[in-house]
Amino acid sequence: MPTSSQCDPVTRFAPSPSGYLHLGHAYAALTAANKARLGGGEFLLRLEDIDRERCRSEFEDMILTDLQWLGLTWKEPILRQSERHDAYQAALSLLFKKDLLYQCFCTRQDIRREIESSGAAPHGPDGPLYPGTCRSLSDSIRNQRISDGEGYALRLDMRNATSQAGRLEWNDIEAGRNIANPDQFGDVVLARKDSPTSYHLSVVVDDHFQGVTLVTRGEDLFPATHVHRLLQALLTLNTPDYLHHKLILGPDGKKFSKRDQSVTLHTLRHQGKMPDDIYAELGLSPAR
Ligand code: GLU
Repeated sequence: MPTSSQCDPVTRFAPSPSGYLHLGHAYAALTAANKARLGGGEFLLRLEDIDRERCRSEFEDMILTDLQWLGLTWKEPILRQSERHDAYQAALSLLFKKDLLYQCFCTRQDIRREIESSGAAPHGPDGPLYPGTCRSLSDSIRNQRISDGEGYALRLDMRNATSQAGRLEWNDIEAGRNIANPDQFGDVVLARKDSPTSYHLSVVVDDHFQGVTLVTRGEDLFPATHVHRLLQALLTLNTPDYLHHKLILGPDGKKFSKRDQSVTLHTLRHQGKMPDDIYAELGLSPAR
């Protein structure tokens, strides 16, 4: 059900604890916190730690230290995606029941070969579209490969999903109303053999669970909202409003990388910078 973010917005900052926070993260966190504070709402924190290889408790501790140093407070509890697998599993089961998921056994190399041999390579926002190799496997072949122990990802059957969902829109509080066009992504992966959920699935399930009414995030994630709006419709989840804010870029015009230690809040703090210096550099007021 659509919600309005105009009054008492519930916002969130959702970093992955796979590195230290940098100035770009500070901008995202302060934007979310300021929207909540100015609208009389609530600011929440979610740790997107589903990638167990890359996420570490050391980074998680530093995220909390950095946010507190910036003067941010959030409503407890902090949500950790690593503790939410049952919820993601329930969402996947629902999509299976609607006949919208299928097992994909292709490796990256299989996909590349298939695309090369077909001579057609339609591209989406995340690169070449999956050519659909496993979409039409018969049940008997599919079951045989599963019982042989072959690993697989779960993909959304995009054509069926969009036809079940019909026309969808979302509201961006700056960019206005957008018509959702998730087809441009093709059959997105919603779970992998080494990770029982995906970014797209966990974000919509958790934004609903946390009662988020205004999602603020960088404009690099604008295209992902097409897929998120579709998943919300298929899973009967709330649709928040969105604000896709500008990205804070380095002097080379590129996004900061997690490997670039020179702009982490940890480094800046140890160089003697104060929170006010960070607000001034980002052109934002303190979220207090
Ligand atoms: N965890 C994502 C990131 O660190 C943000 C996800 C979102 O805001 O939807 O970029």
